Amino acid sequence: MKDFEYTAPATLRDAVKLLAEKGENARVLAGGTDLIVQMRGRRYQPERVVDIKKIPEVNELTFSPRKGLRIGAAVPCHIIYHNSDVIERYPGIVDAAMIIGGIQIQGRATLGGNLCNASPSADSIPALIAYGAIAEIQGPQGKRKIPVEEFCVSPGRNALQPGEMLVCIQIPQSKSNTGAHYLRFIPRNEMDIAVVGVGACVELAGRGKAQTFKRVRIALAAVGPTPIFASAAGASLEGQSVSEESILAAAEAAKSVAKPISDMRGPAEYRTHLVGVLTKRALIGAVKRARGEHVPNAVQEHESAHPVYTLS
Ligand SMILES: Cc1cc2nc3c(=O)[nH]c(=O)nc-3n(C[C@H](O)[C@H](O)[C@H](O)COP(=O)(O)OP(=O)(O)OC[C@H]3O[C@@H](n4cnc5c(N)ncnc54)[C@H](O)[C@@H]3O)c2cc1C
Repeated sequence: MKDFEYTAPATLRDAVKLLAEKGENARVLAGGTDLIVQMRGRRYQPERVVDIKKIPEVNELTFSPRKGLRIGAAVPCHIIYHNSDVIERYPGIVDAAMIIGGIQIQGRATLGGNLCNASPSADSIPALIAYGAIAEIQGPQGKRKIPVEEFCVSPGRNALQPGEMLVCIQIPQSKSNTGAHYLRFIPRNEMDIAVVGVGACVELAGRGKAQTFKRVRIALAAVGPTPIFASAAGASLEGQSVSEESILAAAEAAKSVAKPISDMRGPAEYRTHLVGVLTKRALIGAVKRARGEHVPNAVQEHESAHPVYTLS
């Protein structure tokens, strides 16, 4: 690893100044679970590393009924999935945060780092897109906000300009009758990246057999150069009754926007098939949560179907 300057500013203003001075030759350090590996592997050889963990704004994890949830860019996964507001109101975020690496990784890894790393298989990004999350960015020119679905631009590259950093992720207040679920397929039990991941968030209208989908967002991981917002698949459900048939049609629509590659984790056809299976299950899990039914967190799909994924 090349020598580098380590800095740990205590304010956002200083962090942005330190980043802007070095442009492409500076990198933010949050948990370091990607960055340190990448520096050792020489993918990045920054002259300056800016550790953001001393900055108050990036350590914020707050919920308010008006503003929703703010997840600071340096808050590690284990703090997020133990937070009572997140557990109660944003279970799809818990699903994702609980399967990023193992317990040691979760002690350091942040959702901000997962997003900024812009991996197509990143587990938190489909859940964030499904919830309609917004990335709050600070740079030399001030503050700006962009929807998470526009944040990743190609594998490993995000929309941040030199000198900019992610400050927090904002997730809107989840309305009543809303539920979300994220799940992924990996071929074994622990410590692998998603072969496919799917996040879904649904808002339902009406009751019983007359229940319909009011608003639906679906996002996919590991089936394209960036995480994919399957907007048409979600929109196709809006106004439809909640049924296995309508969900299966949306799962087919999600398959049509997947653009997977074949690699050692599976051929493209297999991944496309999995998009259909996981979209159906993510939607059913989201519907159940919207109805107040229990769906376990952090479900990993192996070879066998999980019994929770049938509509009652
Ligand atoms: C053993 C192991 C298992 C893993 N398992 C998974 C898994 O199951 N699922 C998964 O999705 N990932 C996994 N990862 C990858 C990694 O842990 C996650 O992507 C993690 O969320 C990254 O967060 P971090 O805080 O450690 O990021 P860091 O390593 O600190 O940063 C990641 C990248 O984002 C940039 N960055 C970080 N924060 C900011 C910011 N605020 N503003 C601008 N740029 C920023 C950094 O410069 C760096 O390029 C695994 C990694 C390891 C080592």
